[in-house]
Amino acid sequence: MAPKDLIDLIRVPPGKKVRLKDYDTGWAQTKELKDLGKDVVKERARAILDKNLQDLAEAQELLYADDRYAVLIVLQAMDAAGKDGTIKHVMSGVNPQGCQVYSFKKPSAEELDHNFLWRHMRCLPERGRIGIFNRSYYEDVLVVKVHPELLESQKLPPGKRGKSFWEARYEDINAFERHLVRNGTVIVKFFLNVSQKEQKRRFLERLDRPEKHWKFSAADLAERGYWDQYMEAYEDALSATSTDWAPWYVVPADHKWVTRTVVADILTRTICSLDLHYPEVTAEQSKALAEARKRLEDE
Ligand code: AMP
Ligand code: MG
Repeated sequence: MAPKDLIDLIRVPPGKKVRLKDYDTGWAQTKELKDLGKDVVKERARAILDKNLQDLAEAQELLYADDRYAVLIVLQAMDAAGKDGTIKHVMSGVNPQGCQVYSFKKPSAEELDHNFLWRHMRCLPERGRIGIFNRSYYEDVLVVKVHPELLESQKLPPGKRGKSFWEARYEDINAFERHLVRNGTVIVKFFLNVSQKEQKRRFLERLDRPEKHWKFSAADLAERGYWDQYMEAYEDALSATSTDWAPWYVVPADHKWVTRTVVADILTRTICSLDLHYPEVTAEQSKALAEARKRLEDE
């Protein structure tokens, strides 16, 4: 598993005022890692990822058999930070039946006719499953905060849209998440922290390589123009909503191998820390199994 001090470094403590400039987006997160050098760290990360993918497949099966907990993964990031690739790689070993991915785009007319949590509530993972939110209700305190004109389409009752409006949304999110956790949904939230420089490199790559053209969107470039406003919105959201029950992790995202290793590691740790058991077979069930065996053998 990845060094625990690295995990502690990127977990946002409840109540902490986050400054994203304090978080490194690269691979040399600790002095120990820096001393090892990039090649060694990359090699070790690869081995940790492989091990975690095996453990995760087993952990997911146990989660399913135990059937008491659900796991909700919230993924948030700027464009081209690697959300899709992370989902693809981290979940590659997991039984597709045990995993549900939902991508949240601009809300539809029907969705806007409800409260901002409604469309997410409908997609929550069942007990025994891992649910992934590729973007989430956090967009309602991120893109919507950066572009407050979007609020007009949300058809809310009149009122001021200042600081206390956003604080009320953070409060609602915290209460919603606490409700879920109390009822058996474990929540882990990842902010994939890509640098502005690396985003530019990835956008250019999309323009340079014909097979990546489909990934380029002019809208993403427009949002890049609001980088500082997004960082501020992320800082406010992470500071207000990293709780004991649903922590945020600021995952370094300038190297895909770092992102994938860290996400897989935290997810595996989280599931393995639950008190999961295969259901015990009752005496009556044991008897029925023995009878079934006998019938088959006597055929
Ligand atoms: P993508 O994930 O790149 O396919 O883009 C989805 C788009 O939907 C992004 O530009 C998000 O900002 C946008 N989006 C997601 N949720 C909301 C929301 N609640 N209000 C407005 N836009 C949203
Ligand atoms: Mg996009």
